[in-house]
Amino acid sequence: MLRLILFLIAISALSWGVNWLGDNPGQVSLNWNDWQVETSAGVLAGAVALFAVAVALVYRFWLFLTRAPGEITAAYRERRSRRGYKALTKGMVAVAAGDGEESCRQVQLADGLLGEPPLTLLLKAQSAQLNGDETAAETFFKAMLEDPEMEFLGLRGLFNQAIKRGDDRTALELARRAQALKPKSQWLADALFELEARAGTWANAHAALSHAEKIKAITKGESRHRQAVVAFGESLESERNGDPVKALKHAERAVSMDSAFIPAALRLAKMYLDRAQHKKAQGVVEKAWSLMAHPDLIDLYYRACEADEGLQKVTAAETLAAFKPQAPEGHVMQAEAALDAELWGQARTHLGAAMDAGLATRRVFALMARLEEAERGDKDQARHWLARAAAAVSDPAWVCNDCGHVEADWSPHCPKCKGFDTLYWATPQGLPVGSEALGAPQGPAALLTQSESPEAAQ
Ligand SMILES: [Zn+2]
Repeated sequence: MLRLILFLIAISALSWGVNWLGDNPGQVSLNWNDWQVETSAGVLAGAVALFAVAVALVYRFWLFLTRAPGEITAAYRERRSRRGYKALTKGMVAVAAGDGEESCRQVQLADGLLGEPPLTLLLKAQSAQLNGDETAAETFFKAMLEDPEMEFLGLRGLFNQAIKRGDDRTALELARRAQALKPKSQWLADALFELEARAGTWANAHAALSHAEKIKAITKGESRHRQAVVAFGESLESERNGDPVKALKHAERAVSMDSAFIPAALRLAKMYLDRAQHKKAQGVVEKAWSLMAHPDLIDLYYRACEADEGLQKVTAAETLAAFKPQAPEGHVMQAEAALDAELWGQARTHLGAAMDAGLATRRVFALMARLEEAERGDKDQARHWLARAAAAVSDPAWVCNDCGHVEADWSPHCPKCKGFDTLYWATPQGLPVGSEALGAPQGPAALLTQSESPEAAQ
């Protein structure tokens, strides 16, 4: 609106000026060398106006000539970089789709168009990996270490390669370096703990675990069992280094972190017994039994209660069984103690209760055979039970969750595959022929894990 008013005012002023010049033509005379011009003031004003328009046009043309090359180059660059980013995107999609050939083509295109090597390095490395060229990928990941912005990505790439080829040592070094760059990375905190624990560097594993918990890479609940296993490792290390005081402290910490972690309870109870602290040993075993009735606790309990002969053991077994009355393992313990004390009726009752509760293992059938022979001298019945024992499902043992290796004693690392914290109290695979006849679990499913068996350790 304001513009329209201004325009109308300008038009009015111009027409008034033209009219005024028409009414007052006046006379203009110009003499220059041999030139003589005689004209009116109106014509002179028109000539000046035309001259001004001509100068403005020439000036615009000159501006166009001087600016055009720069603008054309900028437009060209803009187009190239747009095509470069498009190729980069297409390359990433090809990597995600697993199309090695296409990713290779797009990465070359993007590299030529963008002319910024750091931008395409990751794609080059991923594309090389997709095409099975780990050496080329490694070169690209290493090149990324030179650029501070890409360093973490390069370290992650090299870390993954080291893990893939099973080179824990290099992976650990790379993970430590990467954590210095990004201390809040959650996947890294978890991976670093795993590697430190696998390497048995317990003090570092302890620190890595505390850090992972602090940045919430793992929950407090998950952390407690791991803390217990690490403390167990620290206890072993202190003992090897000739420091029994520290070894005991770490074992106590392991039990306080996870009371149901049977290996720690066994270790601590033994340590107390070695120091003649029977009451403390008894307390540890009772607490552990109440959480998981494990047969290895029984002898330690007899030692803690100083139960050396038959009837004393029967009484101690009764006391311990009362801490977890529903556990079939408690009946087996009491049956064995009763057999040793020649209390045949009691032994028979407890073995029957164990079998009624579904405990059909070699150990139970072997005890039945022993009872038949000892009480009645019935060799036929004894043979019958021994045959069942030979065909029965194996008794639980420490079985590696990763490789299936079976061990008598628990250790932080599987002796075969070196996996960390992979040994679980479970029924080993590979059942003897004939176990089907007894209705025992069959095949690989017989490897009970913690989630499947309430009696499995850890
Ligand atoms: Zn293993």
